[in-house]
This record gives sequence, C-alpha cells and structure tokens, in this order.
Amino acid sequence: MFTFRMMYNSTPVKIIENSFRVNIKPFNHFLGEDNNGSYTYFNYHARDLDGARKVIVKVYSTNHTWIHCDCPWFRYNCEVALAMRGSSTITKSNGQPPKIRNPLMKPMVCKHGIATLVDLSMRQLISI
Ligand SMILES: [Zn+2]
Repeated sequence: MFTFRMMYNSTPVKIIENSFRVNIKPFNHFLGEDNNGSYTYFNYHARDLDGARKVIVKVYSTNHTWIHCDCPWFRYNCEVALAMRGSSTITKSNGQPPKIRNPLMKPMVCKHGIATLVDLSMRQLISI
C-alpha cells in the first residue's frame, strides 16, 4: 500500500494547485479493521466549480492509506494504479491500466483526494 506522502509526491503540481480551490467537509468517520489491519475510515464531501464529489479515505495504523473519489479524473488516472497496490478499489473504471493518462502507474490522487488528505494531515489524523 501507499502512504499519503507517496501519493502527494506523485500527484502533478497542477492538481495540487487545483486542490486549493476545493471546499471539503468531513461527513463522518469510524474505526474498522480488515486484512491490512485497523484503520480509521473518513467520509468527506468535496465541492468546487466542477461539482460535488464524495471522497473516502481509510488511514491504517501503519500510515498506509486507501482512498477513493467518485470523480472522472480519479477514475481514469488513479483508480487502477492505486488499486494495484491495495490503496484503492476498482469500482468506477474498467480495470485496464491507464496507458496514456498514467503510463508509469504513479500513485497520484485527484484534487478532491489531495484536499481531503491535506485536511486530515492538518488535523493530525494522518502523518506525512
Ligand atoms: Zn476526485
């Protein structure tokens, strides 16, 4: 799995900049456990001029991170690359590697995901 730092460092600067304009609102969170260990599950609402999105983040005690956003950019650039290492789940895409959009399969995240992860980091709920 990937950490927040690995995701942030793999995300294009333009997406990081666009994340500054995303308004995010924590919706709910709870504790859970799965094969990767115990985690805290966060549900966020993210909104900007492009519309409203839902972001889900699971932060494991090992600091590994699972993330999903329902926007098209996440679907076409991030979902498969993250899911290959257990840091997301294929739900929206066709599961094919993003040969053109992310040929190196970098663990990049969309602007909504970055805004959410940065918020979690600022609230010290995830460490960089
Ligand atoms: Zn998104």
